[in-house]
Order: sequence, then C-alpha cells, then structure tokens
Amino acid sequence: MTHYVPDGLPSELKHYIGGEPADSVSGKTFDVLDPVSNTPYATAAAGQAEDVDRAVAAARTAFTGGPWPRMPPRARARVLNKIADAVEAQDARLAELETFDTGLPITQALGQAQRAAENFRFFADLVVAQADDTYQVPGRQVNYVHRKPVGVAGLITPWNTPFMLESWKLAPALASGCTVVLKPAEFTPLSASLWAGIFAGAGLPPGVFNLVNGYGEEAGDALVKHRGVPLISFTGETTTGRTIYRHCAAHLKGMSMELGGKSPAIVFADADLDAALDSTLFGVFSLNGERCTAGSRILVERPIYAEFCARYAERAANIVVGDPHDPATEVGALVHPEHHAKVLRYIELGKTEGRLLAGGGRPPGADRGNYVAPTVFADVPPTARIFQEEIFGPVVALTPFDTDEEALALANDVQYGLAAYLWTADLRRAHTFAHSVEAGMVWLNSHNVRDLRTPFGGVKASGLGQEGGYRSLDFYTHQQAIHVSLGPVPTPRFGAVRKGQS
Ligand code: NAD
Repeated sequence: MTHYVPDGLPSELKHYIGGEPADSVSGKTFDVLDPVSNTPYATAAAGQAEDVDRAVAAARTAFTGGPWPRMPPRARARVLNKIADAVEAQDARLAELETFDTGLPITQALGQAQRAAENFRFFADLVVAQADDTYQVPGRQVNYVHRKPVGVAGLITPWNTPFMLESWKLAPALASGCTVVLKPAEFTPLSASLWAGIFAGAGLPPGVFNLVNGYGEEAGDALVKHRGVPLISFTGETTTGRTIYRHCAAHLKGMSMELGGKSPAIVFADADLDAALDSTLFGVFSLNGERCTAGSRILVERPIYAEFCARYAERAANIVVGDPHDPATEVGALVHPEHHAKVLRYIELGKTEGRLLAGGGRPPGADRGNYVAPTVFADVPPTARIFQEEIFGPVVALTPFDTDEEALALANDVQYGLAAYLWTADLRRAHTFAHSVEAGMVWLNSHNVRDLRTPFGGVKASGLGQEGGYRSLDFYTHQQAIHVSLGPVPTPRFGAVRKGQS
C-alpha cells in the first residue's frame, strides 16, 4: 500500500505554557509514530509533575489577574468565532496532519476538523444567548444567579479524533471564562500542536490556553492531582476513568467523564433493511471502528437474521481499506501497533466465540502498517468476550433474537451504556424500547448524527455527568446564588436583651 507523508511535518512537539513553546524541565521526550510506517517521525516533550506545575501556574495567573474570565460574553464569543474561522480556513491541512498521525481516513478527518470549528461557533453563540435565573419574593427579596468560571480546567483527551475531541472540551471551557491545561493523548499529539497558533492568532490572551504533552500516568496523573485545578474533564477508557475518579475524590474535584462503550444496534424485522445495513456498517466501520459510540453489537430479529448476516458480510468484505490519505479509503490504519495487536487478539478470540463471516486479520497485501480487514462475527453469544468488551476497532458481533424482551435483555447485558440504535417501522415499539434501553443516547432509524444542543454522555460504565449545550457551560461554571433584601428582614434579635432583665 502507498504511504503519503505531508510536507512540513514538525520534528519536535513542545509544551505550550504561558504563551510560549516549552521543553520539559527534565529535557525528556518520547517518540511519536505514524500508523502506516510505524516509525518515529517526531519527538514530543514528555511532561512530568514539574511541567504541569508550570502550566497550572500560568493558567492560574491568567485566571486570577488576566482579562479572559472578566470579559463580557460577547467579547469572548468574538475570539471564539475567530478561532472557528481559523480552524475552517486550515481544515484541509488539519485533516492532512490528523490523518497522518492517527490513520483516520482523510475524508472523515476533514469532517472532524469542520466539526471542531462548529464546536467553537456553537459555544460562542450559546454563551452570548445564555440567561440565568432570577427569582422574586415581592416586596422582600430578589434572588439571582451569578455565574462564574470555576478556574483552571484540566482537560484530558484520547487519541481517536483527537483534534475534534479537544475542541469539544476547549470550546465550552474557554467560552465559560475558564483557563485551561490540555493533556492530549500521547499516541497522537500532532494536531494539538496547532492550537497554540490558532488561539494566539485569534487574540486569546497568553496563559489562558496551556498544553502539556506526555504519558497519562505522568503528565495526566499530575494534572488530576494538582491542587490548583478544581475540575477535570476526561474522555478515555473506563479503566482510566476509574483511576481518575479515585484521585479526584481525594480533592473533591468536579469531574466529567466520557468513557467506553459497547453500543447495540437493534434491527427488527419490520425495519427498512437497506437503510439499516448502510447505517450499521457506517456505525461500526467509520473512524476505523475507533469510535466510542460505535454500534459494535448488532442484534437482529430472527426472521431477517440470515439475510442480514449475508448482506452485511458481503458489504463488509467490500469496504476499501487503504492509505488513510487516499480519498477512496473507507477504513485506514489503526492508531498504534499496541492497539493494532490488541484488536488482532480480539479477532483471534472471536474465531473461538463466533462464526467468522468477513475479515479476520490483516487485509491481503497489507504486510506493514496497522491495517485490519473489517471483521464480522455472527452467532455471537452474550457470554462471549467479543460481545461484552470494547474492542475499539473494525470488528462487529451479530446476534439473533426472537422477542422484544430478549432484544432488550441482550442490549442491556453489558457494563456499558453509551449509545443504542434502533431500527423499526413501529413507532410505539421504538419509543417503548428506547425508554427501557440502558443508554445515554438513542438513535431511532439513524446512526450517530447529533445536534450540539442535546445532552451527550453515557450511563453505567460509559460515563459520569453529561455535557452538550448548556450542560457543558454548567460544568465549567459555578452558579452563585445572590440574595438581596428589598425590605426589613424579620431577624430574631439574639443578644438584644440585657442579662438580668426579663
Ligand atoms: P485512555 O484512557 O488510555 O487515555 C485517555 C487519556 O487519558 C490520554 O490522554 C492518556 O494519556 C490519559 N491517561 C491515561 N492514564 C491516566 C491517568 N492515570 N491519569 C490521568 N490521565 C491518564 O483512552 P484512549 O485509549 O486514549 O481512548 C480510547 C477510549 O476512549 C475508548 O475506551 C473510547 O470509548 C473512549 N472514548 C469515549 C468517548 C465518549 O465520549 N464517551 C469519546 C471518545 C473516546
């Protein structure tokens, strides 16, 4: 397979602290690989506790003494819109770098870059339109909500669609007036290195945005435990989320957790089968299957099961796997050799747990690079590990069901509860099922298409708290209640009677 390498790749990726690029205090670095050649193309500064200290100090200075938290929402929104303009203006370059670093197909990386711009535009609008509550007790009191940014927000992000997921935290945090320290995923630090220039060009004051590269157990851990960081927004694996939850508890920090998933797509016999096929294929094989909301378990009603399996497998075998930079590519290369090996291990396990219908390992001719052929297993029982565990690659499990009750039990029989997708022409069944399924988000007769105003988040092991729309602004702000007396207050007069007098 070919391998396109963009011009002008940086060879060093630094931290960005207080408006300046910075090396690690220790001078340590780590290698960054691209997922097609799996050779290092750059080194990144390996942040440790002392680098996090410097970044938090810069963010605190910008928070306590700088203009950003005190600017009117409209002034902040102007900067956010300039950020969106800059992201849009360089979407092709962003996509090119993201594709090179992550292995995501270029057409999908371009869509993610545009979505990142939209996140800034959306929160610019929202913060200007925001209204807070006021309550009156006639003649006695006015009570109002004074909204204040919480402080320095610690943002910890994963490697799948890194730039877009960073924007999903940066935009509401900055719109709210917080200052931030971002710790991007160590597998994919390239696109995050563009934020500094974009923000400076848009007029974000120095120190408001800070970035520390490094490993989760070092830089990420130091950020989570830092006393100067009152809230952590984390997206990543459930096991990492549990560790961070424990460490945040020690400091009673605010937390938002977007974690893993093993989302079901349930296809009833009355569904529009062509649409369900298109959507369930896209739902698990887009973004290389490295998608938190992937519909990676497809439950199919028995009367259409055999036909669905046959048509699904035929389409999966036909998916174009190739150079992530080729616009014809539908599935690119997985992010890192470690992750690739993990997905291949699950595929070998799947061969003992289900019936292999398509894929099953590396695609023919791809002897280097982290390529995986889109893989379909049928007849997967709910006890199988490939039914229960998040694989986070282009691998799907198909399971038949006979009744609505059985479908619901299968759908809910995993630790996760991020998304669910239902395919049926029966409106009543669709809503009844949607209300009972344990998922933070449900799509009826659709894959994942989301309005930014809606809540985003999972239940059970898929997350804690919800973001999206005003919920994100609520996370990054305190709502202080101010009570104003309008008349005399009936106060019990403690100490007003002299001792000895009655
Ligand atoms: P990960 O948990 O390994 O890493 C995520 C981030 O956490 C990285 O920046 C990492 O360096 C950091 N980290 C790791 N250990 C840490 C620690 N002890 N303290 C502080 N930070 C630490 O996840 P990943 O492999 O990068 O991402 C894939 C996972 O993310 C999948 O499980 C996927 O479902 C999930 N995800 C969820 C959503 C969602 O919105 N629910 C979205 C995207 C991805």
